[in-house]
Amino acid sequence: MTTNNNCFKTPLLTVDKTLQMIKSNINSISTTQTQLIRDALGHTLAEDVVSNINVPPHRNSAMDGYAILSTDLNTDNNIQLNVIGTSFAGAPYEGAVNNGECIRIMTGAMMPDGADTVIMQEDCERTDDVISLNNQHKAGQNVRHPGEDIQQGSVVLTAGKHISPADLGLLSSIGIAEIQTYCKPKVAFFSTGDELKSLGEDLGPGDIYDSNRYTLFGMLQKMDVEVIDLGVIADKKELIQQTLEKAAQSADMVLTSGGASVGEADYISEILSDIGQVNFWKIAMKPGKPLAFGHINQTPYFGLPGNPVSVMATCYLFVQPAIGYLKGLKQSEHLSLKATSLNLLKKVPGRTDFQRGILKQNEKGELTVDTTGMQGSHILTSMSKANCFIVIPQDSGNVEAGEVVEVLPFNGIL
Ligand code: AMP
Ligand code: MG
Repeated sequence: MTTNNNCFKTPLLTVDKTLQMIKSNINSISTTQTQLIRDALGHTLAEDVVSNINVPPHRNSAMDGYAILSTDLNTDNNIQLNVIGTSFAGAPYEGAVNNGECIRIMTGAMMPDGADTVIMQEDCERTDDVISLNNQHKAGQNVRHPGEDIQQGSVVLTAGKHISPADLGLLSSIGIAEIQTYCKPKVAFFSTGDELKSLGEDLGPGDIYDSNRYTLFGMLQKMDVEVIDLGVIADKKELIQQTLEKAAQSADMVLTSGGASVGEADYISEILSDIGQVNFWKIAMKPGKPLAFGHINQTPYFGLPGNPVSVMATCYLFVQPAIGYLKGLKQSEHLSLKATSLNLLKKVPGRTDFQRGILKQNEKGELTVDTTGMQGSHILTSMSKANCFIVIPQDSGNVEAGEVVEVLPFNGIL
């Protein structure tokens, strides 16, 4: 990647171009580990998983009822069959079933030899050891076949898959206790700014509380990385430089917030031109115009804007996919939907807006989106109320109420 610390004079970068540049400059971490499946939750699978068994492993009943031969359904409408035994889940009936006979069978129990159809118990009348039923049933119904879900020898999960609760179930269903995963990346972050006070401190004139430290902590925590919180660093060159160097040594990615806009960018850029290969970009997006991205030694670095909404928007849009690549994830894109705007949304052409919205479904089943109100990059309540970003394209002006817009639903990290 070429370094360009002077790009405030260059044209704005589009969001898509920025995403591409980030993607092509981040490799997955190389260390992998063997983990018990429970410990692997939230990690990324490092190799394909092949099943050594069929799931289900045997033919079994999908219902509580009676296992019969379908050829018995070809007779008249009042069929009578002798109940000759029972098959429980885990305690199968050992013998075979012939015409004129049936087996009482429970859900999940093995089908006895000979039987190919299950009649729900609600559809039979039982008197002693005889059941009566009509012939309005389909041959083969209510039977689950071996390998219906997973075939022996098939690839069940591919490398690069995020391990979810469903995957824990899937892995356990094929008897797999341990898997190979990528180690969780360590992400170090700190806030910069002389005006920032930590919780518990008193606010002096012009001071504010450091909220980015908490939003970033929350988002990183939900991204299943190891979080290294380096706190607030004052706007002092040596201190920022030392902290950046230390962070880059101990972490797989470093984030800072604040100090990346024009006023202070020279400061951070001065340090980074000595110790890193970092681009200072102006992104054609609102909120979140200033963004620094590059490497300090080999460690990827993001200099996020200082404004509380900007930091969340850029973390969601750029840092989340970047951490996905670092974690070895194959899929790291955001879900995009279309919804009807319920409001006039003010917008000036020139940058892509990521306004905060509340996505809902109306009584007709259509998706609608409501604004959260004031959209300034310092209005953190707009993030708290929202459940999606409303994306208004770069060249677009105002959006009228009733127009269809693109929305990105918050995906668990916001
Ligand atoms: P900067 O990019 O440092 O010029 O900051 C832009 C704006 O974001 C300023 O109003 C800062 O006070 C504010 N800001 C910067 N860092 C934080 C933070 N950690 N928490 C809350 N606000 C911040
Ligand atoms: Mg600052």
